[in-house]
Amino acid sequence: MSQLIIEAAVEQTLEGLQVGEQHSYDHCAACGRELQAGVQVTAAAYKPLDSPYWQITHVYCTPCDHREIETPKDERREVLVSGCLALTHLAAHQTTRLVLTEVAIQTHSPPADACSP
Ligand SMILES: [Zn+2]
Repeated sequence: MSQLIIEAAVEQTLEGLQVGEQHSYDHCAACGRELQAGVQVTAAAYKPLDSPYWQITHVYCTPCDHREIETPKDERREVLVSGCLALTHLAAHQTTRLVLTEVAIQTHSPPADACSP
């Protein structure tokens, strides 16, 4: 399987994924600046190898522009993506969520099996 196909799948999976804890804004993990819808961000996301679900762990503002995976771990895949924050309204839950859109992969951890003997 080609790496390009995998990356395209990850981008699709992260598109529309919730950012932060059910607020209409989040904070830059580096400088603490408030980030709202319409802002360009870099986001760190990971997926345990035994789970199909990605989770966004941190977002960074453009000036902080975080481009390195700090602690690569064998048991999970990590990626850094650029994207744009957007608000989405969930009618069923009567709530608004901050989500990631226009996702583009910046860097990712090596495939897990690359480290195996
Ligand atoms: Zn920042």
